[in-house]
Amino acid sequence: MVLGNRGRNVLDVAATAVELRGVVREYGAKQARVRALDGVSLRFPAGSWTAVMGPSGSGKSTLLHCAAGLERVDAGQVFLAGREITAGTDAELTALRRRHIGFVFQTFNLVGSLTAEQNVALPLRLARMRVSKSDVRAALGSVGLADRVRHRPHELSGGQQQRVALARAMVTRPAVLFADEPTGALDSASARLVLDLLGELVATRGQTVAMVTHDPLAAARAGTVLFLSDGRVVDTADRPTPLAVADRLARLEG
Ligand code: ADP
Repeated sequence: MVLGNRGRNVLDVAATAVELRGVVREYGAKQARVRALDGVSLRFPAGSWTAVMGPSGSGKSTLLHCAAGLERVDAGQVFLAGREITAGTDAELTALRRRHIGFVFQTFNLVGSLTAEQNVALPLRLARMRVSKSDVRAALGSVGLADRVRHRPHELSGGQQQRVALARAMVTRPAVLFADEPTGALDSASARLVLDLLGELVATRGQTVAMVTHDPLAAARAGTVLFLSDGRVVDTADRPTPLAVADRLARLEG
């Protein structure tokens, strides 16, 4: 039976990039205590693109941060590529995160004093991985910025900065790419370009992507949409139309 169990574990690891089991996350003390995640269990299958939606304060960012190991959970477990990230020391978690997680933020979070290629090389340096100039340039080329490698963030548009951030998140070839409102600060043309790049990563590389968004058009680009309310997953929709997403969100916000 040992062999059988092992076989099943291997299959699970191959099929599931991230799994949350009964995750609880609370903030504040005593009477001011807020339960941001109230027993969340879900899986992000390998190669899937999932959008997370819900009213403001429903726990979307907390969910993403806990799934990515950026925040500790108060109860429950998080597994990344088959390994429990809620066990282990802070140092182990940091090492795991640097190698296996990519994260894109709404406001890009590039280092202002560094060029695009230095920004992209940063995660490789932090993870003590080999920094190959050709890999860094290829990452920038894949987001259409081969001619901007020496530019600093203030010399780039918002859409270009987000594409540098995407190249930076992908350069370590992470198991999962998390994005917290990646198009929230962009005009619609730049937003569409970033969503096209995410779709290409999923379609051609089998990248797993989990993305928080407020935009029904963005959410409808993902394969699955999860709806959160008061720290719980209250609904999921596969390949919904933008209208169906907007309608479900409006009813949650109502
Ligand atoms: P969303 O991303 O859906 O807007 P969040 O995950 O940011 O929601 O927040 C969920 C709940 O947790 C909210 O009630 C919010 O006020 C609270 N919260 C989030 N972060 C903190 C924090 N650092 N300290 C205290 N409360 C927080």
